[in-house]
Amino acid sequence: MGERDKYAKLVELAKRRGFFWPSFEIYGGVSGFYDLGPLGTLLKENIKRLWLDYFVTKHSDMVVAIETPMITPEIVFKASGHLESFTDPIVSCNKCGRVFRADQLIEDALGIKVEGKTPEELTKIIKEKGVKCPVCGGELGEVRTFNLLFQTYIGPYSRDRGYLRPEAAQGMFLAFKRVHTVMRSKLPLGIGQIGRVARNEISPRQSMIRLREFTIMEVEFFFDPSEKYSPPFERFNSRLNILTAEDRLKGVEKPTTYDAEEAVKEGVVKNEWLAYWMVVSKEFVKELGVAEEETFFEEKLPDERAHYATQTFDQMVKVSRWGWVEVSGHAYRGDYDLSRHMKFSGQDLTVFKRFPEP
Ligand SMILES: [Zn+2]
Repeated sequence: MGERDKYAKLVELAKRRGFFWPSFEIYGGVSGFYDLGPLGTLLKENIKRLWLDYFVTKHSDMVVAIETPMITPEIVFKASGHLESFTDPIVSCNKCGRVFRADQLIEDALGIKVEGKTPEELTKIIKEKGVKCPVCGGELGEVRTFNLLFQTYIGPYSRDRGYLRPEAAQGMFLAFKRVHTVMRSKLPLGIGQIGRVARNEISPRQSMIRLREFTIMEVEFFFDPSEKYSPPFERFNSRLNILTAEDRLKGVEKPTTYDAEEAVKEGVVKNEWLAYWMVVSKEFVKELGVAEEETFFEEKLPDERAHYATQTFDQMVKVSRWGWVEVSGHAYRGDYDLSRHMKFSGQDLTVFKRFPEP
């Protein structure tokens, strides 16, 4: 049985048994939206409970959970940089008018990776290599950017623009100072959240893997960068499979196995907490049934990283139909978010450190 057949059979079975099916089915469906059926809902609750256990309960000495709104006023995403940078490149066909995600189109047509290239660079590739519309064969126009935030209005005034959040993280940054006070002003402090998010993907394919609305599970972890910490690596098996950006640039495709603490010492992972939460994430995914050799952390190249990050790893998991897919992102965001929100809100979000001796 080919992978394609196996995948089609599985999707069919999921539908029949009540795990998931396309939303708005009687109107023909809208891509990127799925309903969870009776069994799917129960399965998802189990996954959420396991995540809470790994990331919050097992770390009740330093992590708490909160819940914040999905609809967010515009100023928040101005401050976070999403209004400007949360975009994907698109290109339209001059003949039939269809719109495509430019990087996917090029990758499909030429089999090369172009993640992180600018619209100008993508336009150049399309022109030079003669990439055409995959539907009608027509000429393609210039590549431009498309913002993935879903827009709405808050209340009756059209000037009060809001957006559906594309990640839960901003809720944690905005609540940081309050949570820090409530939790007796201790650092390090992790704030976790499980909630709905929405991203206006250009052409979601890959079934349940790329959705326009989904549930995200996130932790933002705050610490004092001047402090030397020893994360509790002994709580878990701390082996990590990592494919570094340096190796990727050399054409290496196989990840290297490190002990997490060694990876920090050798500078492969730039921060001890980043390495620690990668370990927890690997253990969590393992408990979901993914073997250790079928997951690794891929370091993003500088031009592939999100606008806020200084080092990012994507946790990849092998899926028979789609190959390696990203299941979690681990970004070292520094103080980018808090300092941007301080600037845009005019509020002081710094916290005092208590020293043992006065
Ligand atoms: Zn066309």
